[in-house]
Amino acid sequence: MDTKIDIKRQIETLRNKINYHNYLYYAKDAPEISDREFDALFRELKQLEEQNPELITPDSPTQRIGAVPSEKFEQVEHKYPLYSLDNANNEEELTGWYNRLRKTFPEPQKIEFVCELKVDGLAVTLSYDNGMLTRGATRGDGRTGENITTNLKTINSIPLSLFQPESRHIPEHVEARGEIYMPISSFEKLNEKRRQTGEPEFANPRNAGSGSVRQLDPRVTKERDLDIFVYGGVFEDHTKPGAHYETIQLLQQLGFRANPNTRLCEDIEQVKEYCNHWDEARFELNYATDGVVVKVNDLNQQEELGYTSRSPRWAIAYKFPPERALTKVVYIEPSVGRTGAVTPIAHLEPVKLAGTIVKRASLHNADEIKRLDIRIGDKVWVKKAAEIIPKVISVDPKKRNPDSMPYQYPETCPECGTRLERKEEEVAFHCPNTMGCPAQVKGRIEYWAGRDAMDIEWVGESMVNQLVEKRLINDPADLYYLTIEDILSLERMGDKSASNIINAIQQSKDRAFNRLINALGIKYVGKETAELLSRNFYSLDELKNADFDSLSAIDGIGEKVAEGIVNFFKNPHVIDMLEKLKNAGVKLYGQKPQEAENLPLSQKTFVLTGTLKSMTRTRAGDIIKKLGGKISSGVSKKTDYLVAGEDPGSKLEKAKKLDVKILNEIEFCELIAK
Ligand code: AMP
Ligand code: ZN
Repeated sequence: MDTKIDIKRQIETLRNKINYHNYLYYAKDAPEISDREFDALFRELKQLEEQNPELITPDSPTQRIGAVPSEKFEQVEHKYPLYSLDNANNEEELTGWYNRLRKTFPEPQKIEFVCELKVDGLAVTLSYDNGMLTRGATRGDGRTGENITTNLKTINSIPLSLFQPESRHIPEHVEARGEIYMPISSFEKLNEKRRQTGEPEFANPRNAGSGSVRQLDPRVTKERDLDIFVYGGVFEDHTKPGAHYETIQLLQQLGFRANPNTRLCEDIEQVKEYCNHWDEARFELNYATDGVVVKVNDLNQQEELGYTSRSPRWAIAYKFPPERALTKVVYIEPSVGRTGAVTPIAHLEPVKLAGTIVKRASLHNADEIKRLDIRIGDKVWVKKAAEIIPKVISVDPKKRNPDSMPYQYPETCPECGTRLERKEEEVAFHCPNTMGCPAQVKGRIEYWAGRDAMDIEWVGESMVNQLVEKRLINDPADLYYLTIEDILSLERMGDKSASNIINAIQQSKDRAFNRLINALGIKYVGKETAELLSRNFYSLDELKNADFDSLSAIDGIGEKVAEGIVNFFKNPHVIDMLEKLKNAGVKLYGQKPQEAENLPLSQKTFVLTGTLKSMTRTRAGDIIKKLGGKISSGVSKKTDYLVAGEDPGSKLEKAKKLDVKILNEIEFCELIAK
């Protein structure tokens, strides 16, 4: 039997190992062990801590999550103020700043600089006492900020306790300053998800990042995939770094993640080179940056320069020029998508912008064309919107051909000639000829066969085009009735390829249920929502029979989505297609959750409202699901129980009206204890 001291030592060793590998993985991007080995260490620690809860400390790597949501953030005063930065909007202003520095330190004195990319995120300061993270706060107004420690703890690259640096001890008090940001790839994924659930999208990675870190529920923060670059530090200690670059190195040794693109420059020429290089190269980074922060390296020089009331004189933020390019509109193509929506696309004379060649830009809709008065042949300015998608920002009227005419938005569908329509609440025109418009028919079938849907090999854009044009198919279900002879009738088609295609189609008949739902191309239902629906419905019949209330009661399904689903299944063409799919033997159901049958709460739907004293709502939800029950976010006729905690919301009224059984916290606890 281990003694307590042995266990304590074992726990400490495990924590050190985990912290070290965590640092290699998240802060250094250079892991030495596999994820699996890492998970094994983590599990071992968790188990030991569960058996010995008195040995859990707040800096244990197991404590990064688990805190409960707070009502609001506490205001905290910063021990050292966080300054803002003066800007230099062009090279001239940068030179102006340099000339002012030269007044204090005339030639031939040396002035060295550190150049850092200015990451567009949320500034935070992290306090460590005796090596332990004690507080993390937002910059706020520079003097007071908000205490967001629990949220910051969920970010893996933020050390909970500091490492011992080489050849020195850990300073007694450390304040590390850095920028929290959301990588562009994560931002795009998050928006894609929000699009599909009908939630409003974030305008840019900055908003997404600062919105995520200021979530009251740290579990939301954890899901959002945030990261940090640390770019400054204050140390209370008898030995301190003598230069900013050494500060960064010390911070790295203590376990922080610094931006690998930070560079020490010997003179202002090197600074300018750095700025010009990153003005172009920034678009290859997975984070948004809008400039370069240039800092005087020597801390004695910094001290001599001092501060104005709002910013240090020893630093400046050089802003990248906005990326724009002038090019010509060759023609405007109204493009019809699989849902019938018409998006005007400007085809441009190729131009280099933000490191890529731009040939096309979206003009969004007819209103936008009118607003900008874009005409064919115009010279237009294009820029990368939110640094990502090209957009036409303005027309140069001086370069306009005097004979040009305002662009006439087509009144009929360019693909099928049907008169375009516009619904009151929508900005886009659409072609109402859902079944007959070749662009929509092709789009739907292509989507059906796509990677995220039924994943049918060989059936891509050109194959679908040929099949539709030859009138061999008109909807996805027709694919399953194609014969070898049909395929052989296409141009340049051999026996072998034809049978490959038929096989691939036949093999797609029993794809997973979520793929099938996605493949249908229901309005507002994408990959993620399809996945969610597949977990709530067992078969397509069940989904088809679901009404608006029960659909919108599902957590993650908004009203727009619910309406889209209900309307979809009412469409006679859809009903006809489903019949054809069924007769062809396409699997139209998922796997029944078997074990759920015999669980105590199976078939029961719960809604939670108000605050529970003994557990969080998420925890309550987990318990219900574990016992086979379902959770939904709104009360409907199909709700079995409303669990009402303290300060219940309007759901309580609705439940009373609909005669739904209401449980208080004690009754609920009794129910789950059975
Ligand atoms: P401003 O908000 O324009 O006054 O600029 C100051 C802000 O720049 C700071 O609060 C940080 O959020 C941000 N920033 C981003 N990168 C850096 C960096 N490397 N050094 C200092 N500040 C930075
Ligand atoms: Zn059409």
